[in-house]
Amino acid sequence: MRIALIAHDGKKDAMVALAAGFVPFLQRCRLMATGTTGGRLRRELGLEVECLLSGPLGGDLQIGARLAVGEVDGVIFLRDPMTPQPHEPDINALVRACDVHDVPCATNVAGARLLLAAWASASAGASA
Ligand code: PGA
Repeated sequence: MRIALIAHDGKKDAMVALAAGFVPFLQRCRLMATGTTGGRLRRELGLEVECLLSGPLGGDLQIGARLAVGEVDGVIFLRDPMTPQPHEPDINALVRACDVHDVPCATNVAGARLLLAAWASASAGASA
């Protein structure tokens, strides 16, 4: 599976904690992330993550472009709803791209946990 991971600053700790619960599954995925999020996942969990540009510099758009051509199977996008973001248009574009192309996208921890659990159990079944 090709999974994109993005967390706004107020949600980065939550992203690391979330991913920590799914390390064996995530190790079997091809992971890409916006720059700072990906850096933390690499450093703190030892995951192999392709780090794209930071979100405010266009990282969301890079992920959206890949998704639009079928190169992303799912998105974990922990948005901070309490903090205005300078790249709000990019954020909306990525979520819209997920809807256009019917790619699963979780924008909060509870939804992300459900998606990751479903993917992990589907992949365990597939490799059994
Ligand atoms: P970052 O980008 O992972 O580089 O911080 C995410 C964002 O804040 O949009």
